Amino acid sequence: METSNEEMAHPEERCHSDQRAFLSRVFDRLGLDRAARTLLTNSFREVTVQVPVRVQRGGRAVLETFEGYRVQHNHARGPFKGGLRFHPDVDIVEVRALAQLMTWKTSLVDIPFGGAKGGIAVDPGRLTGDELETLTKRFTQKLMPIIGPMRDIPAPDVNTSPQIMAWIFEEYSKTHDYAPAVVTGKPVELGGARGRLEATGHGVAFITALACRDRGLAVADARVAIQGFGNVGSHTARRLSELGARVVAISDVHGGVYRGDGLDVAAAIKHVAQTGRLQGLAGAEPIDNAQLLALPCDVLIPAALGGAINEDNEADVQASVVVEAANMPVTHGADDALGERGITVVPDILANAGGVIASYFEWVQDIQQLGWEESELLGRMEALLERAWAATVSAAGGGSGLRTSAYEIAVERVLHAIELRGF
Ligand code: GLU
Repeated sequence: METSNEEMAHPEERCHSDQRAFLSRVFDRLGLDRAARTLLTNSFREVTVQVPVRVQRGGRAVLETFEGYRVQHNHARGPFKGGLRFHPDVDIVEVRALAQLMTWKTSLVDIPFGGAKGGIAVDPGRLTGDELETLTKRFTQKLMPIIGPMRDIPAPDVNTSPQIMAWIFEEYSKTHDYAPAVVTGKPVELGGARGRLEATGHGVAFITALACRDRGLAVADARVAIQGFGNVGSHTARRLSELGARVVAISDVHGGVYRGDGLDVAAAIKHVAQTGRLQGLAGAEPIDNAQLLALPCDVLIPAALGGAINEDNEADVQASVVVEAANMPVTHGADDALGERGITVVPDILANAGGVIASYFEWVQDIQQLGWEESELLGRMEALLERAWAATVSAAGGGSGLRTSAYEIAVERVLHAIELRGF
């Protein structure tokens, strides 16, 4: 009898187009049959919820309903783990792709989690603090049956802060015993790990230094351009300048700033805290996002949203190393083209994995009810990143790019866990 699995030419057809292309190549190289492909690509569970909130518009209260999502991709290696993003472009296709990316990320860096992702289609900048709290808590109520410290542990992602994690913790705790391990990236006062906030950017900088070294370049001599100055971009810039790199350009949604001799990153962080944007930073020239991507520099770090480097602009890239601080910032077509030009692309599942590694340590600390020093967290995080880097580089020695080898390692581990556990 024909099964529904067989009706699909490739199970990866369900995936986001870029992810499909990356995965199909890896599945082919590993010689996986259709059943294995189906197991690895399908989500375990996909939930869509409606979250009604009364919001102030033009001086009166209006009822708005926001759509929220949580996709749990795979939990063969441990509880589901992954962030929540609040952004107008959030939809089920994106969340599904990002959930799957978390499965590969946690597997590659070998921490005991599966992959999940969620979010709400909302522009949080249009909400008051009270409205955001109500939205977050109502969303948490709807996710209540599927999250938990040993089930699925959300965390910050685009536009979601430690404060939002605190609200999730509070809402969950109303109907459960004290359970800080239900969410990571919390404020330190509530069981958040010291170093979690900086961890993703710190890890990106650490990986950037390894990538530079492999190209015969000391990070202290590198000229770096960073697109995006949120939590990840700003901490990446800060850490890279501590390591001696010259951060020559950074940008945010409003535009960017450039200084050939290197920007004063601490001054940039202060300027953004005061004015809400990079524009107008003293001693720097204004540039736009397109100019930033095309700058002559050693390292280009996309740290904003997906698809930033694509078929339309990849030819402009002059850097010799691209480090994916954001999730899925380089499209498949651009990735191939950059590879052909000899540009090293460090994939997201390696480059930005410091964040989820630090989340793992936060979860461990919450379960044990003790707190580590920041230096211990960052040191242990670097050790896991270095191990994943070495495994990926050595697997790529056969001629495949870093992304392909990273995916191969991650996919094989998940498949092995599925086989060991059975169904
Ligand atoms: N949102 C981050 C990521 O994409 C962190 C997820 C987590 O800490 O669970 O890796």
